[in-house]
Amino acid sequence: MEAPDRVLSTLERDGSRRWIYPRLAKGSLWQRRRIFAYFLIAVFTGIPYMRMNGKPLFLIDLPHRRLFLLGSTFLPTDTVYLALFMVGLILGIFFLTAVVGRAWCGWACPQTVYLEFLYRPIERLFTGVAGVGGRPKRLAAWRVIAKHATFLFVSMYLAHTFLSYFVGVDQLRHWVTTSPALHPVAFLVMLFTTGAMMFNFGWFREQTCIIACPYGRFQSVLLDRDSLIISYDTKRGEPRGKMRSPLPVLEDSSLESRDCVDCMMCVNVCPTGIDIRNGLQAECIACAQCIDACDAVMTKIKRPIGLIRYSSQNAMAGQTPRLLRPRVAIYWAGVFATFALLTVMLWNRSPADVTLLRSLGRPFVMTDSGLVENELRLKLTNRTDESMSLRVSALTPNLQVLTADPTITLAPHESQEAPVRVQASPASFKLGTFDTKLRVTLDGGRTIDRACRLLGPFGDSEGAGNAR
Ligand code: SF4
Ligand code: SF4
Repeated sequence: MEAPDRVLSTLERDGSRRWIYPRLAKGSLWQRRRIFAYFLIAVFTGIPYMRMNGKPLFLIDLPHRRLFLLGSTFLPTDTVYLALFMVGLILGIFFLTAVVGRAWCGWACPQTVYLEFLYRPIERLFTGVAGVGGRPKRLAAWRVIAKHATFLFVSMYLAHTFLSYFVGVDQLRHWVTTSPALHPVAFLVMLFTTGAMMFNFGWFREQTCIIACPYGRFQSVLLDRDSLIISYDTKRGEPRGKMRSPLPVLEDSSLESRDCVDCMMCVNVCPTGIDIRNGLQAECIACAQCIDACDAVMTKIKRPIGLIRYSSQNAMAGQTPRLLRPRVAIYWAGVFATFALLTVMLWNRSPADVTLLRSLGRPFVMTDSGLVENELRLKLTNRTDESMSLRVSALTPNLQVLTADPTITLAPHESQEAPVRVQASPASFKLGTFDTKLRVTLDGGRTIDRACRLLGPFGDSEGAGNAR
C-alpha cells in the first residue's frame, strides 16, 4: 500500500529506498569546504604519526589502559578529567549549534568529510551522477566493480588509521608486516572496521545523518530563531515558476518578484534529498550545496545571488539578528567554567594517585603491648614517566604506621596496593572511632595527606576488640 505523501526524503511512497546520487555544485562554498575537508583528512590520518614530549600526540592505548594527549599521559584513575572534558565538549557543541547551527555537520563531521570528499568523488568518477531518486547512467559492470574495489582499498586504509589510534603506529606496522595468524583479534577488528566503512559510505550514507546520528536529532532543541541556518528567501523566491510561464498576478504587494525558477537544482545537489524551499528541516546537514547551486542559477538568469543563503529565521522575517541571547550566554558560561576548572585541576594534578581503604576482615585487633591495630590498604599510582619512591607516615604523634617496606617504589605509570598496619593507644578512640590522617611523602618532598577513620574499643579496651 502506498502512502499518500512522501514521509522521508529518502523513502519512496511504497516504502522502498529512494536512492540519492547528488549532483555537484562547484561554487565558492564548495571550494572552501573542499580545502577544509582535505586539511581535516590530512590531520586525521597524520595524528597517529605525530609526537609531543616524546609521546604520541593522541593515543587511546587500550592494551595498557592509558590515554596520551598533547604530551601528557592519563590513567584510569584520571577519569574525572575525561568526564570534565566531555562535559565541556558537549556544552561547546551546544554553544556552537546555538550560534552557527549545524556548521559541524556540513563542514567538519567525518561522515560528511569522507562521504562528500572521498567516496562520492570516486563514485562520480566511475558511475556518474543522477540526482535524487535517479540511477546513474554509466552502470557497466566493470565500472561498478572498479568503484567498489576502490571503496575497499580506501576503507582498508581508513580502518588501519582508525586502529592506529588505539594501538599506535609502531604496533600497527608490526602487525601489517607479519601474518594475521599471529594477531587474529587485531586482524578481525580491522576487517570489521573496513566492513563498517564499506557499509556506511557505500550503502547507508545519508541515513546515518537522517536516522542514526543523535546530534542530528538534538539540533531542533539546540537551535533558536537567531541561529545561523541555511534558508530559502521565500519573499524573494515565491511564487516560483518556470521562466517562460506567464508572471502570476500578485495580490500581496510584499511579494516583489519570483526569482525561483523551479529548476530543482537545489534539490538535485542535496545529499539528503530534501527541498530547502520547504523551510528548515531536521535532514538538512548545512552542507551549503543548495546555496552554490542556486547562486549559479541566479548568476545565469542575471538575478542577485543569495536566494538561498546563510541566515536566521528572525533575519528572514525582517528582524534584527541577535548574537547575544540568554541560551548563548549560558552555554558559553558553562563551557568557560568547565574548561577553567579542568585547567586548574590539571595544573594542580598530583604526580601520584593515593587512595586509602580499609582491609576486609576484623575491624581491629589488640596487640600484646595494649595498642589498637587497624589494617588498611594503600592504593598508589605513579602518574609520571619516571620511577617514584614513596614513604607513608603518621600525621599525629599518637599513631604508628607499619609497612612491609619503609619505602615503596613504583615504576612509571605503575599501580600498586600496599598493606599498612596502623597502631594507636585505646585512649585515642572516642565512641569506638579515631579520625586521623596518614601522610604519603613523594620524591622531592611533596606530600599527600589522606584522612582515615580507625576503629577501636568503646571507652576502655576490655572486651571491645579481638586480642591478637
Ligand atoms: S536552485 Fe534556486 S531557482 Fe532553482 S529551484 Fe532551487 S531555489 Fe529555485
Ligand atoms: S538543504 Fe541545502 S544545506 Fe541542507 S543538506 Fe540539502 S543541500 Fe545541504
